[in-house]
Amino acid sequence: MFGPTERALGLHRVLEPAGALPQAALRLDAGPEIGPDEVRIAVDRLNLDAASFRQLAESCAGDGAAVRAAVLDIVATRGKMQNPVTGSGGMLIGVVDAVGADSPLGLVPGQRVATLVSLTLTPLRITDGLSRWDGRSEQVPAQGTAVLFARSIAAVLPDDLPDEVSLALLDVCGAPAATARVVERTGARSVTVLGAAGKSGSLSLAAARRAGATRLTGLVRTEAEAAALTAAGLADRVVVADATDPLAVAAAVAEPADLTVVCVDAPGAEHGAILATAEGGTVVFFSMATSFPAAALGAEGMAADVTMLIGNGYTPGHAALALELYRSVPGVRALIDPRVTE
Ligand code: NAP
Repeated sequence: MFGPTERALGLHRVLEPAGALPQAALRLDAGPEIGPDEVRIAVDRLNLDAASFRQLAESCAGDGAAVRAAVLDIVATRGKMQNPVTGSGGMLIGVVDAVGADSPLGLVPGQRVATLVSLTLTPLRITDGLSRWDGRSEQVPAQGTAVLFARSIAAVLPDDLPDEVSLALLDVCGAPAATARVVERTGARSVTVLGAAGKSGSLSLAAARRAGATRLTGLVRTEAEAAALTAAGLADRVVVADATDPLAVAAAVAEPADLTVVCVDAPGAEHGAILATAEGGTVVFFSMATSFPAAALGAEGMAADVTMLIGNGYTPGHAALALELYRSVPGVRALIDPRVTE
Protein backbone atom coordinates (compact mmCIF):
# COMPACT_ATOMS: atom_id res chain seq x y z
CA MET A 1 0.00 0.00 0.00
CA PHE A 2 1.22 3.47 -0.85
CA GLY A 3 0.65 6.51 1.34
CA PRO A 4 -0.44 9.93 0.07
CA THR A 5 3.12 11.10 -0.61
CA GLU A 6 3.95 8.10 -2.80
CA ARG A 7 0.55 8.23 -4.50
CA ALA A 8 1.05 11.94 -5.26
CA LEU A 9 4.14 10.93 -7.27
CA GLY A 10 2.24 8.14 -9.02
CA LEU A 11 4.10 5.18 -7.50
CA HIS A 12 0.85 3.23 -7.20
CA ARG A 13 0.63 3.19 -11.02
CA VAL A 14 4.07 1.61 -11.53
CA LEU A 15 3.88 -2.02 -12.67
CA GLU A 16 7.57 -2.59 -13.32
CA PRO A 17 10.08 -2.31 -11.73
CA ALA A 18 8.66 -2.01 -8.22
CA GLY A 19 9.81 1.09 -6.38
CA ALA A 20 10.66 3.09 -9.50
CA LEU A 21 9.10 6.49 -10.04
CA PRO A 22 6.73 6.59 -13.05
CA GLN A 23 9.22 8.43 -15.25
CA ALA A 24 11.86 5.71 -14.82
CA ALA A 25 9.38 2.84 -14.89
CA LEU A 26 9.23 0.37 -17.75
CA ARG A 27 5.47 -0.04 -17.49
CA LEU A 28 2.59 1.87 -15.94
CA ASP A 29 -0.98 0.88 -15.17
CA ALA A 30 -2.89 3.16 -17.55
CA GLY A 31 -6.35 1.93 -16.50
CA PRO A 32 -9.03 4.64 -16.76
CA GLU A 33 -10.52 4.12 -13.27
CA ILE A 34 -9.14 6.90 -11.08
CA GLY A 35 -8.34 7.05 -7.38
CA PRO A 36 -9.60 9.84 -5.09
CA ASP A 37 -6.42 11.89 -5.62
CA GLU A 38 -6.28 11.52 -9.43
CA VAL A 39 -7.75 13.29 -12.45
CA ARG A 40 -8.75 11.62 -15.73
CA ILE A 41 -8.29 13.50 -19.00
CA ALA A 42 -10.12 12.61 -22.22
CA VAL A 43 -7.26 12.97 -24.69
CA ASP A 44 -7.60 15.13 -27.83
CA ARG A 45 -4.06 15.46 -29.13
CA LEU A 46 -0.53 14.45 -28.21
CA ASN A 47 2.59 16.46 -28.93
CA LEU A 48 5.56 14.14 -29.37
CA ASP A 49 8.72 15.92 -28.33
CA ALA A 50 10.89 16.91 -31.27
CA ALA A 51 13.84 14.63 -30.47
CA SER A 52 11.55 11.62 -30.09
CA PHE A 53 9.64 12.32 -33.30
CA ARG A 54 12.84 12.85 -35.29
CA GLN A 55 14.26 9.56 -33.99
CA LEU A 56 11.06 7.65 -34.81
CA ALA A 57 10.78 9.20 -38.28
CA GLU A 58 14.43 8.45 -39.08
CA SER A 59 14.30 4.88 -37.76
CA CYS A 60 11.17 4.24 -39.89
CA ALA A 61 12.78 5.91 -42.94
CA GLY A 62 9.94 8.44 -43.02
CA ASP A 63 7.21 5.77 -43.37
CA GLY A 64 4.26 7.39 -41.55
CA ALA A 65 2.34 4.14 -41.08
CA ALA A 66 5.41 2.58 -39.45
CA VAL A 67 5.80 5.60 -37.14
CA ARG A 68 2.14 5.30 -36.12
CA ALA A 69 2.56 1.59 -35.44
CA ALA A 70 5.67 2.30 -33.37
CA VAL A 71 3.87 4.89 -31.21
CA LEU A 72 0.88 2.57 -30.70
CA ASP A 73 3.22 -0.22 -29.71
CA ILE A 74 5.12 1.93 -27.21
CA VAL A 75 1.94 3.16 -25.53
CA ALA A 76 0.36 -0.32 -25.43
CA THR A 77 3.53 -1.88 -24.02
CA ARG A 78 4.56 0.81 -21.56
CA GLY A 79 1.25 2.43 -20.57
CA LYS A 80 2.86 5.79 -21.41
CA MET A 81 4.49 7.47 -24.41
CA GLN A 82 8.20 7.26 -23.71
CA ASN A 83 10.49 6.71 -26.68
CA PRO A 84 12.85 3.91 -25.55
CA VAL A 85 15.74 5.35 -27.60
CA THR A 86 15.59 9.05 -26.67
CA GLY A 87 13.89 8.46 -23.31
CA SER A 88 11.72 11.51 -24.03
CA GLY A 89 7.98 11.98 -24.39
CA GLY A 90 6.06 15.21 -24.98
CA MET A 91 2.74 16.33 -23.58
CA LEU A 92 -0.97 16.33 -24.39
CA ILE A 93 -4.16 18.33 -24.45
CA GLY A 94 -7.63 17.13 -23.66
CA VAL A 95 -10.76 17.70 -21.58
CA VAL A 96 -10.99 17.06 -17.85
CA ASP A 97 -13.22 14.00 -17.69
CA ALA A 98 -13.32 13.07 -13.99
CA VAL A 99 -11.81 14.57 -10.83
CA GLY A 100 -11.21 12.55 -7.66
CA ALA A 101 -12.65 14.07 -4.50
CA ASP A 102 -9.19 14.58 -2.96
CA SER A 103 -7.36 15.91 -6.03
CA PRO A 104 -5.49 19.13 -5.13
CA LEU A 105 -5.12 20.26 -8.77
CA GLY A 106 -8.22 22.48 -8.75
CA LEU A 107 -9.48 21.12 -12.07
CA VAL A 108 -13.15 20.90 -13.00
CA PRO A 109 -14.78 18.44 -15.43
CA GLY A 110 -15.23 19.96 -18.87
CA GLN A 111 -12.15 22.22 -18.71
CA ARG A 112 -9.83 22.06 -21.70
CA VAL A 113 -6.29 21.59 -20.41
CA ALA A 114 -2.72 20.90 -21.40
CA THR A 115 -0.74 18.60 -19.15
CA LEU A 116 2.54 20.23 -18.15
CA VAL A 117 4.10 16.99 -16.97
CA SER A 118 5.89 14.80 -19.45
CA LEU A 119 4.21 11.95 -21.32
CA THR A 120 7.11 9.87 -20.02
CA LEU A 121 5.34 9.60 -16.66
CA THR A 122 1.68 10.06 -17.64
CA PRO A 123 -0.48 6.89 -17.69
CA LEU A 124 -1.90 6.86 -21.22
CA ARG A 125 -4.35 4.64 -23.10
CA ILE A 126 -5.12 5.11 -26.79
CA THR A 127 -8.51 3.88 -27.98
CA ASP A 128 -8.75 5.00 -31.62
CA GLY A 129 -5.67 3.31 -33.10
CA LEU A 130 -4.47 6.85 -33.96
CA SER A 131 -6.62 6.56 -37.06
CA ARG A 132 -6.68 10.34 -37.64
CA TRP A 133 -2.85 10.60 -37.74
CA ASP A 134 -0.66 10.00 -40.76
CA GLY A 135 2.51 9.54 -38.69
CA ARG A 136 4.17 12.55 -40.31
CA SER A 137 3.76 15.28 -37.69
CA GLU A 138 4.82 15.84 -34.09
CA GLN A 139 1.20 16.59 -33.21
CA VAL A 140 -0.96 13.50 -33.00
CA PRO A 141 -4.79 13.66 -33.00
CA ALA A 142 -5.72 10.91 -30.56
CA GLN A 143 -8.56 9.51 -28.52
CA GLY A 144 -8.03 7.86 -25.17
CA THR A 145 -7.46 8.61 -21.52
CA ALA A 146 -4.61 9.99 -19.44
CA VAL A 147 -4.24 10.22 -15.67
CA LEU A 148 -2.81 13.03 -13.57
CA PHE A 149 -1.48 12.53 -10.05
CA ALA A 150 -1.70 14.92 -7.12
CA ARG A 151 1.74 16.35 -7.96
CA SER A 152 1.12 16.66 -11.70
CA ILE A 153 0.54 20.06 -13.23
CA ALA A 154 -1.85 21.15 -15.94
CA ALA A 155 -2.75 24.48 -17.50
CA VAL A 156 -6.20 25.49 -18.64
CA LEU A 157 -5.91 26.18 -22.40
CA PRO A 158 -6.17 29.84 -23.33
CA ASP A 159 -9.22 30.59 -25.49
CA ASP A 160 -7.46 33.18 -27.69
CA LEU A 161 -5.04 30.72 -29.33
CA PRO A 162 -5.59 27.63 -31.52
CA ASP A 163 -5.07 24.42 -29.56
CA GLU A 164 -2.24 23.35 -31.87
CA VAL A 165 -0.32 26.53 -31.06
CA SER A 166 -0.88 26.25 -27.30
CA LEU A 167 0.22 22.63 -27.36
CA ALA A 168 3.43 23.45 -29.20
CA LEU A 169 4.23 26.41 -26.93
CA LEU A 170 3.52 24.58 -23.71
CA ASP A 171 5.62 21.58 -24.76
CA VAL A 172 8.76 23.73 -24.89
CA CYS A 173 7.88 26.41 -22.33
CA GLY A 174 10.73 25.29 -20.05
CA ALA A 175 13.29 26.69 -22.52
CA PRO A 176 12.41 30.40 -22.45
CA ALA A 177 11.91 30.23 -18.68
CA ALA A 178 15.34 28.64 -18.14
CA THR A 179 16.97 31.15 -20.48
CA ALA A 180 15.38 34.12 -18.72
CA ARG A 181 16.35 32.76 -15.33
CA VAL A 182 20.02 32.33 -16.26
CA VAL A 183 20.22 35.78 -17.87
CA GLU A 184 18.65 37.37 -14.81
CA ARG A 185 20.74 35.46 -12.27
CA THR A 186 24.13 35.64 -14.00
CA GLY A 187 23.80 38.98 -15.76
CA ALA A 188 24.68 37.28 -19.06
CA ARG A 189 24.73 39.86 -21.86
CA SER A 190 25.72 37.73 -24.85
CA VAL A 191 23.54 34.70 -25.64
CA THR A 192 23.87 32.14 -28.44
CA VAL A 193 21.02 29.78 -29.27
CA LEU A 194 21.71 26.61 -31.29
CA GLY A 195 18.65 25.59 -33.30
CA ALA A 196 17.46 29.19 -33.06
CA ALA A 197 14.70 29.09 -35.67
CA GLY A 198 12.83 26.24 -34.00
CA LYS A 199 10.05 26.49 -31.41
CA SER A 200 12.13 26.44 -28.23
CA GLY A 201 14.95 28.33 -29.97
CA SER A 202 12.84 31.29 -31.07
CA LEU A 203 11.16 31.52 -27.67
CA SER A 204 14.56 31.40 -25.95
CA LEU A 205 15.89 34.27 -28.05
CA ALA A 206 12.82 36.36 -27.23
CA ALA A 207 13.12 35.49 -23.53
CA ALA A 208 16.83 36.38 -23.47
CA ARG A 209 16.09 39.81 -25.00
CA ARG A 210 13.25 40.39 -22.55
CA ALA A 211 15.50 39.46 -19.61
CA GLY A 212 18.15 42.01 -20.60
CA ALA A 213 20.63 40.26 -22.90
CA THR A 214 21.98 42.64 -25.53
CA ARG A 215 24.01 40.53 -27.98
CA LEU A 216 21.96 37.67 -29.33
CA THR A 217 23.30 35.15 -31.85
CA GLY A 218 21.07 32.58 -33.51
CA LEU A 219 22.73 29.53 -35.07
CA VAL A 220 20.76 27.64 -37.71
CA ARG A 221 21.55 24.85 -40.11
CA THR A 222 20.33 26.14 -43.47
CA GLU A 223 20.23 29.37 -45.45
CA ALA A 224 16.44 29.11 -45.57
CA GLU A 225 16.24 29.07 -41.77
CA ALA A 226 18.78 31.92 -41.65
CA ALA A 227 16.52 34.00 -43.89
CA ALA A 228 13.47 33.22 -41.76
CA LEU A 229 15.28 34.04 -38.51
CA THR A 230 16.71 37.25 -39.92
CA ALA A 231 13.26 38.33 -41.08
CA ALA A 232 11.84 37.52 -37.63
CA GLY A 233 14.27 39.98 -36.06
CA LEU A 234 14.85 37.96 -32.90
CA ALA A 235 18.66 37.84 -33.12
CA ASP A 236 21.31 40.53 -33.60
CA ARG A 237 23.38 38.08 -35.64
CA VAL A 238 22.39 34.95 -37.53
CA VAL A 239 25.04 32.35 -38.37
CA VAL A 240 24.79 29.11 -40.34
CA ALA A 241 26.50 25.90 -39.17
CA ASP A 242 25.78 22.27 -38.36
CA ALA A 243 25.39 22.23 -34.56
CA THR A 244 26.87 18.72 -34.49
CA ASP A 245 30.16 19.94 -36.01
CA PRO A 246 32.04 21.51 -33.06
CA LEU A 247 34.68 23.36 -35.07
CA ALA A 248 32.10 24.71 -37.49
CA VAL A 249 30.02 25.98 -34.55
CA ALA A 250 33.04 27.64 -32.92
CA ALA A 251 34.07 29.26 -36.20
CA ALA A 252 30.55 30.48 -36.97
CA VAL A 253 29.93 31.89 -33.51
CA ALA A 254 33.48 33.36 -33.38
CA GLU A 255 32.94 35.30 -30.13
CA PRO A 256 32.03 32.89 -27.28
CA ALA A 257 28.85 33.86 -25.42
CA ASP A 258 28.07 34.23 -21.72
CA LEU A 259 25.18 31.81 -22.24
CA THR A 260 24.58 29.14 -24.88
CA VAL A 261 21.16 27.48 -25.13
CA VAL A 262 20.97 24.17 -27.00
CA CYS A 263 17.58 23.88 -28.72
CA VAL A 264 18.37 21.45 -31.56
CA ASP A 265 16.44 18.20 -31.80
CA ALA A 266 19.36 16.06 -32.98
CA PRO A 267 22.15 14.37 -30.97
CA GLY A 268 25.76 15.55 -31.00
CA ALA A 269 25.54 19.26 -30.16
CA GLU A 270 27.37 19.09 -26.81
CA HIS A 271 30.93 19.90 -27.89
CA GLY A 272 30.00 22.74 -30.21
CA ALA A 273 27.92 24.30 -27.44
CA ILE A 274 30.84 24.14 -25.00
CA LEU A 275 33.27 25.64 -27.53
CA ALA A 276 30.76 28.42 -28.23
CA THR A 277 30.63 29.44 -24.55
CA ALA A 278 32.97 31.88 -22.79
CA GLU A 279 35.10 30.86 -19.80
CA GLY A 280 32.90 31.12 -16.72
CA GLY A 281 29.78 31.07 -18.89
CA THR A 282 26.74 28.78 -18.85
CA VAL A 283 25.32 26.20 -21.23
CA VAL A 284 21.65 25.21 -20.96
CA PHE A 285 21.08 21.84 -22.60
CA PHE A 286 17.35 21.99 -23.33
CA SER A 287 17.62 19.37 -26.07
CA MET A 288 16.44 15.91 -25.11
CA ALA A 289 19.02 14.50 -27.49
CA THR A 290 21.80 15.68 -25.15
CA SER A 291 24.28 13.11 -23.86
CA PHE A 292 25.35 13.68 -20.25
CA PRO A 293 28.70 11.84 -20.70
CA ALA A 294 29.45 13.73 -23.92
CA ALA A 295 28.80 17.06 -22.19
CA ALA A 296 30.62 16.30 -18.95
CA LEU A 297 33.63 14.54 -20.46
CA GLY A 298 33.79 16.95 -23.37
CA ALA A 299 34.01 19.97 -21.08
CA GLU A 300 36.66 18.23 -18.99
CA GLY A 301 38.64 17.28 -22.09
CA MET A 302 38.62 20.87 -23.32
CA ALA A 303 39.40 22.26 -19.84
CA ALA A 304 36.33 24.43 -20.30
CA ASP A 305 35.22 26.22 -17.13
CA VAL A 306 31.53 26.38 -17.94
CA THR A 307 28.45 25.71 -15.84
CA MET A 308 26.25 23.16 -17.57
CA LEU A 309 22.55 23.03 -16.79
CA ILE A 310 20.04 20.39 -17.78
CA GLY A 311 17.01 22.22 -19.19
CA ASN A 312 14.40 21.51 -16.54
CA GLY A 313 10.98 21.29 -18.18
CA TYR A 314 9.51 23.02 -15.13
CA THR A 315 10.15 26.53 -13.85
CA PRO A 316 7.46 28.46 -11.99
CA GLY A 317 5.63 30.71 -14.45
CA HIS A 318 7.00 28.91 -17.50
CA ALA A 319 3.67 28.41 -19.29
CA ALA A 320 2.54 32.01 -18.87
CA LEU A 321 5.89 33.33 -20.13
CA ALA A 322 5.84 31.23 -23.31
CA LEU A 323 2.23 32.18 -24.13
CA GLU A 324 2.97 35.84 -23.46
CA LEU A 325 6.08 35.85 -25.69
CA TYR A 326 4.08 34.27 -28.51
CA ARG A 327 1.30 36.85 -28.17
CA SER A 328 3.57 39.88 -27.93
CA VAL A 329 6.60 39.15 -30.15
CA PRO A 330 5.66 38.95 -33.84
CA GLY A 331 8.95 37.24 -34.74
CA VAL A 332 8.13 34.31 -32.45
CA ARG A 333 4.75 33.88 -34.12
CA ALA A 334 6.33 34.11 -37.58
CA LEU A 335 8.71 31.23 -36.82
CA ILE A 336 6.37 28.99 -34.82
CA ASP A 337 3.15 29.19 -36.86
CA PRO A 338 4.50 27.46 -40.00
CA ARG A 339 5.91 24.63 -37.87
CA VAL A 340 2.60 24.05 -36.15
CA THR A 341 0.28 24.28 -39.10
CA GLU A 342 2.44 22.30 -41.56
P1 NAP B 1 12.11 22.22 -33.28
O1 NAP B 1 11.03 23.25 -33.28
O2 NAP B 1 12.06 21.09 -34.25
O3 NAP B 1 13.50 22.98 -33.43
C1 NAP B 1 14.73 22.30 -33.52
C2 NAP B 1 15.62 23.14 -34.43
O4 NAP B 1 16.95 22.58 -34.43
C3 NAP B 1 15.12 23.14 -35.87
O5 NAP B 1 15.19 24.45 -36.38
C4 NAP B 1 16.14 22.22 -36.57
O6 NAP B 1 16.33 22.52 -37.93
C5 NAP B 1 17.37 22.56 -35.78
N1 NAP B 1 18.44 21.59 -35.96
C6 NAP B 1 18.34 20.23 -35.96
N2 NAP B 1 19.54 19.67 -36.18
C7 NAP B 1 20.43 20.70 -36.32
C8 NAP B 1 21.82 20.78 -36.58
N3 NAP B 1 22.55 19.67 -36.70
N4 NAP B 1 22.40 22.00 -36.66
C9 NAP B 1 21.68 23.14 -36.53
N5 NAP B 1 20.34 23.13 -36.29
C10 NAP B 1 19.72 21.93 -36.19
O7 NAP B 1 12.26 21.54 -31.84
P2 NAP B 1 11.71 22.04 -30.41
O8 NAP B 1 10.30 21.59 -30.25
O9 NAP B 1 12.09 23.44 -30.19
O10 NAP B 1 12.56 21.09 -29.47
C11 NAP B 1 13.98 21.26 -29.38
C12 NAP B 1 14.57 20.28 -28.37
O11 NAP B 1 13.99 20.52 -27.08
C13 NAP B 1 14.29 18.82 -28.69
O12 NAP B 1 15.47 18.08 -28.49
C14 NAP B 1 13.23 18.46 -27.68
O13 NAP B 1 13.29 17.09 -27.39
C15 NAP B 1 13.65 19.28 -26.50
N6 NAP B 1 12.62 19.45 -25.45
C16 NAP B 1 13.04 19.51 -24.17
C17 NAP B 1 12.14 19.65 -23.12
C18 NAP B 1 12.63 19.77 -21.71
O14 NAP B 1 11.82 19.74 -20.82
N7 NAP B 1 13.92 19.89 -21.49
C19 NAP B 1 10.76 19.75 -23.41
C20 NAP B 1 10.36 19.71 -24.74
C21 NAP B 1 11.29 19.56 -25.76
P3 NAP B 1 15.44 21.76 -39.03
O15 NAP B 1 14.04 22.23 -38.83
O16 NAP B 1 16.08 22.23 -40.31
O17 NAP B 1 15.59 20.29 -38.78
